[in-house]
Amino acid sequence: DPVRMEKIVSLCKRRGFIFQAGELYGGLNGCWDYGPLGTELKRNLKDYWWRKTVQERDDVLGMDGAILTMEAVLQSSGHIGGFSDPMCDCLLSKARLRADQIEPQSGTVYHFSGATLPEAEWKSEKAYSVLQITGYDEAKTRKTAREYYAQFIKESTMSKKEAIKAIQLQGETTEQVTGTTRYNPENGSLLTEPREFNLMLQTNFGATGEQIAYLRPETAQSIFCQYKNILDSNRVKLPFGIAQIGKSFRNEINPRNYTFRSREFEQMEIEYFCHPDDGMRLTEEWLETRLEFYAEIGVPRNKLHILDVPDGERAFYSKKTYDIEYEFPFGIQELEGVAYRTDYDLGVHQKGANKPLEYYDEETKERFLPHVVEPSAGCDRTVLAVICEAFDEEDLGKDGKSDVRTVMRFVPAIAPIKVGIFPLMKKNEEQVRIAREIQKMLQPWMNVFYDDGGAVGRRYRRQDEVGTPFCVTVDFETLGEEKPEFKDTITIRHRDSMEQERLPIEDLLPWLLARVR
Ligand code: ATP
Repeated sequence: DPVRMEKIVSLCKRRGFIFQAGELYGGLNGCWDYGPLGTELKRNLKDYWWRKTVQERDDVLGMDGAILTMEAVLQSSGHIGGFSDPMCDCLLSKARLRADQIEPQSGTVYHFSGATLPEAEWKSEKAYSVLQITGYDEAKTRKTAREYYAQFIKESTMSKKEAIKAIQLQGETTEQVTGTTRYNPENGSLLTEPREFNLMLQTNFGATGEQIAYLRPETAQSIFCQYKNILDSNRVKLPFGIAQIGKSFRNEINPRNYTFRSREFEQMEIEYFCHPDDGMRLTEEWLETRLEFYAEIGVPRNKLHILDVPDGERAFYSKKTYDIEYEFPFGIQELEGVAYRTDYDLGVHQKGANKPLEYYDEETKERFLPHVVEPSAGCDRTVLAVICEAFDEEDLGKDGKSDVRTVMRFVPAIAPIKVGIFPLMKKNEEQVRIAREIQKMLQPWMNVFYDDGGAVGRRYRRQDEVGTPFCVTVDFETLGEEKPEFKDTITIRHRDSMEQERLPIEDLLPWLLARVR
């Protein structure tokens, strides 16, 4: 739903959640800056992940590795050399396949300007005109452009020369041939041309820049490299995990869908080390744990899809991979991968560094290389999913008059602002004094927002729009005027139901803490 997405993007900019990086100078493609509210949201999400993953478990330890990574590490991991073989993306299934796995192929089709269409445009006029340019008979079928395109490829026997000629006949120039797509009739996949899959950003070290380093493409490698140090320094036993949150960098060819595919992004990764016999079972357990996590942060189970990645599409060393996908307004897309990676990672580093990384089990006297289950989530993607899920518009209008309330339904634990604090009347000194006191009382515990501008109804709406779950108003009753029994109580207004209740000021902090943690 592109309209919904546009509204979300616009709200995020207007209220200071997310800005394009370098916007002042025209923008840096694939990079984003989080504004004040986005920063709070993202911090809350990371804190919650850390709390659930590290703090509340006794089998997971944390680490914070360097971003700059030695060439040797990435050589062993396969990021340099090994994985940089030509890969193709299937435009229909979104799978990425090694180029040598996609033979036999037929029906090469040429991309013209606008032919490499994003998903949202498959059904558009643009897709139609592309088909027309390439000589497909429009009247022949009334299918959606997407099917139409696939069918065209199946039936096309045009050579590149003929295609260029056809375009020229339409008054277009040959420069508009931008690439080709392959169609594999055996499995119906539609594949981009192979490209070198090495998306790493490189930098240089030393006085003359003679030494090469890389910005890490994932946080995982420093965990594998420090696994032995962490094991030895913490005297832990299998199974145990190491968790890390941090920035990763990939020179994505096609950054798109807002922050979804960025060149600089943050990951939340766990490498869970275990006995080989437990790998499969733990993969299932981690999948469940991670699904619970998403429900707790406001992304319900029924909006998630679990893709059990089939043989041939998983990394060659992985025995099981689940992709956890979310229904974004721009399509169903991956949030997290839960992969059983066997002993591949420790194996390649043991070999590459030529140092033993085996585990010795004192009880069974067994020596072996631990296996790894990896739940790897994208922080920015999760923030985006949370934002998309929270965004809501409801019409509160009466008598045929529309009154749309925009409300971000963040769960309180990750809402950027926990409580808005308002004196009912800005000019009432006593109300202002008490409201300021409440602000001071709550500030050490949570992020609050003081607002005395404009009508209180408008102040509520402004907080609704950024997802503040509660608002506290200091009014005349707080001062004990008219009804003395209400002295020193405030009004609490609930964001979702818009209901209000009165609470003694002295009960406010525990009341809030019970709800926003
Ligand atoms: P995709 O297929 O979408 O490129 P991936 O399978 O390459 O992702 P992994 O290497 O498994 O991703 O990385 C783990 C997680 O890191 C992903 O599930 C995603 O949440 C996040 N991630 C990966 N690449 C990006 C990116 N370019 N921008 C934002 N988040 C990303």
